[in-house]
Amino acid sequence: MSYQLVWLRTDLRVADNPALYKAMSQGPTLALYLVTPEQWKVHQDSPNKLEFWRLSLIRLAEQLQQLKVPLLVRCVPRWVDVAEHLIQLCQQYSVQTLHFNDEYGVNEQRRDQDVQQRLSALGISCHSYLDQVFFAPGTLLTQTGRAIQVYSAFRNQCHARLLHHLPKPLPRPKAQQPVGIPPDQIPERFSEVEAISLSDWPMGESAAHSLLELFVSEHLAQYAKARDFPAQTGTSRLSPYLTAGVLSVRQCVQAALSLTHGHFDTQHSGFITWVDELLWREFYRHILHAYPRLSRGYAFKPETEALLWRQAPEDLAAWQQGRTGFPIVDAAMRCLKATGWLHNRLRMIVAMFLSKNLLIDWRVGEQWFMQHLLDGDLAQNNGGWQWSASTGTDAVPYFRLFNPITQSEKFDPQGDFIRRWVPELAHVSAQKIHNPATLGGLFGISGYPRPILDLAQSRKRALQAFKSLSSHQ
Ligand code: FAD
Repeated sequence: MSYQLVWLRTDLRVADNPALYKAMSQGPTLALYLVTPEQWKVHQDSPNKLEFWRLSLIRLAEQLQQLKVPLLVRCVPRWVDVAEHLIQLCQQYSVQTLHFNDEYGVNEQRRDQDVQQRLSALGISCHSYLDQVFFAPGTLLTQTGRAIQVYSAFRNQCHARLLHHLPKPLPRPKAQQPVGIPPDQIPERFSEVEAISLSDWPMGESAAHSLLELFVSEHLAQYAKARDFPAQTGTSRLSPYLTAGVLSVRQCVQAALSLTHGHFDTQHSGFITWVDELLWREFYRHILHAYPRLSRGYAFKPETEALLWRQAPEDLAAWQQGRTGFPIVDAAMRCLKATGWLHNRLRMIVAMFLSKNLLIDWRVGEQWFMQHLLDGDLAQNNGGWQWSASTGTDAVPYFRLFNPITQSEKFDPQGDFIRRWVPELAHVSAQKIHNPATLGGLFGISGYPRPILDLAQSRKRALQAFKSLSSHQ
């Protein structure tokens, strides 16, 4: 018997999975997941994310079993051996066609080209599919045929196209006849580094759909107003599922349509504000694809490579461990470390604090995030960091620095988020909790640190550093 082989990567679901759906429509199918420790180390060890993926894979294997598709799980220690490994598998199982969904990092694209070339040379066809995004990177362009660098222009093109044609999710495939090949065991760990407990994150596709439906029915209508307040459940918290591909972007928008009677309603503030966040995700994938240097760690704005970043290990450690003396920053950094997730408003606050107030290279923060986040994603993380550090495309202007105290007063007005993560300040009033100066008498008594910097001076230092770059003079 010959087989179709579907190679699963960041698409850990059976419903609306184009590669799986196509493979199963063409004949008896086997599924494959490659455990590639070397690839995963390219950006940073990410034990929490890898554990999220591993647990998601266990659920996926159960789903595949219902479809009678055996899941092969193979470890390929050296990334360069992926193509060779696939060739051997294809020969062992008489595979006719390899199917996979596209990924957009430079290394991933190079790997896939290599696989395609080498398999085609042996007469095995390869089919790749659009999955992570609505529109293939490289297909939304400016009038002069270049990648769109401004988000609002990108979003407007997306809206126009989605209004015309909204891609619908594919159904879950029907079970095939048993193929008599046993599934593999899933390894007990993907990373040598211990992960945090993920018991707060329900695993698997059906759990993710329940979370999506709950968010749409209870929170989406208020999303535009509530999305900036970290102490509230204003956002979906679906990012880890989107990053692992347990959910697809099409499924998210499809679910959101229940609020707008099935119309892609650009006037419905909750609906469209959420869709626009999903389009930021899409935008950063298009940018990553158009500018491969981003995958290699370069700034989008080359002139910012000349910025004189500070080497300040003690300040960096204070930021990482949540001991800067700025309550909102510390609460956020402790939350990140303990849970592997952080609200978007807080990601922006701590990213600006590191890259502007502390003037520490944004790449250091990008790595720290990658190391801890469950949803760590090269395109979005790089995009978010470069936006905050004013080195990226359509980034915040360099002279705009979030003031962590006013941000805290505005977006955590009662101090609830701070109190949850900084127990030293649990008994401080809402009026005093945001500003280190008003905590004066508490320093040393509660064990909460003094502020590591003067906001006004650090702001001046950041502006000077940017002004000294030729393009900003
Ligand atoms: P919701 O508000 O419910 O939004 C729905 C989905 O839209 C999200 O799950 C996410 O996929 C996407 N999205 C939302 N906001 C953004 C945004 N600003 N940029 C790009 N996509 C967005 N997101 C990641 O998924 N992985 C990362 O590694 C990552 N790193 C970031 C680093 C920094 C410095 C910043 C400022 C942002 C980063 N983001 C990242 C974007 C954003 O913070 C998260 O996607 C969001 O907080 C996830 O929460 P949610 O699922 O509740 O989002």
